[in-house]
Amino acid sequence: MKINLVSDTVTRPTPEMLQAMFSAEVGDDVFKSDPTINTLEAKAALLFNKPAAIFCPSGTMTNQIAIKVHTQPLDEVICDHYSHVYQYETGGYAFNSGVAMNLLQGTNGKIVADQIEAAIKPLYDWLPVSKLVVLENTCNKGGGSYYTLDEILPIRNLCQKRGLKLHLDGARLFNALIETGETTQAVGAHFDSISICLSKGLGAPVGSLLIGETEFIRQARRFRKVMGGGMRQAGYLAAAGIYALDHHVKRLKTDNDHAKLIGETLESCALVEQVRPVKSNIVIFDLKVPHTAETILTKFETRGILASAFGPHTIRFVTHLEVTPAMIEKTQTVIGEVLG
Ligand SMILES: *Cc1c(COP(=O)(O)O)cnc(C)c1O
Repeated sequence: MKINLVSDTVTRPTPEMLQAMFSAEVGDDVFKSDPTINTLEAKAALLFNKPAAIFCPSGTMTNQIAIKVHTQPLDEVICDHYSHVYQYETGGYAFNSGVAMNLLQGTNGKIVADQIEAAIKPLYDWLPVSKLVVLENTCNKGGGSYYTLDEILPIRNLCQKRGLKLHLDGARLFNALIETGETTQAVGAHFDSISICLSKGLGAPVGSLLIGETEFIRQARRFRKVMGGGMRQAGYLAAAGIYALDHHVKRLKTDNDHAKLIGETLESCALVEQVRPVKSNIVIFDLKVPHTAETILTKFETRGILASAFGPHTIRFVTHLEVTPAMIEKTQTVIGEVLG
């Protein structure tokens, strides 16, 4: 059997999650009459101490809707150059919202208030209007780095002072919170809107949630519909999300610890140039040139381990709930064989 460390999106529902899905009570959510979706949305809103939430098919959609509701065409979004909203959403910020990106060079995907302040544009006819800041926590391309609320607070204060909205791409937020011990309610107080993914480390097959103020979510519902995201009896999927929030949050510590073990093994390998600091469930490392990700990944694959290329000489491993301690041991052995 292959050990799949390509992404934490590869997980399949556990038997218990499937049981919860099978027994879900459903209705037509476009008419707001799916009781399981209503329960999930209420649960998410309460979790972050916000008035409302909306269930969407993907984290790309929740982020794209957030950008759409927070901006007007010719505005700009300020974020780190590694951000998912810039890198991996098909350029949707331009297509869906007609906005520009003002990209900052952070540290492992994390930016600070001074950088943002320097990037806010003055109001001239010939400049886009700085309107929205997006933070990513944890930061995927930053190697799973995370912000603490102490680091977010100055950014929150700056945005309030300068009239900018602050959105959190929290696809893997719970992998950060399990490390910091901070609460979702406290996170809610720092952001205008929050996106979380149920289909990453939490192990649901499909789904993300966008959480925010009542009027924000009312508009989000319209944009979800026009993007084709108005689902009908999707309570079967929401049931998986409820199960995930109830049962799969605490165990994320295991995934983070597994990633650290992989990171430690890589640190001492002859062919490894450097490992980005391992903070959560993602491990990104660079190979010494001329070794390429492609050839090394083939060697891993023939030994039963799947990972992904994150650049010509860069490889990513992601841990998740289907990865056992025995699989981590096997991975460590194979890393030793392939990378010396
Ligand atoms: C996975 C991910 C998303 C959303 O991706 P979907 O595949 O569209 O659900 C958003 N942001 C980050 C940081 C992610 O890793």
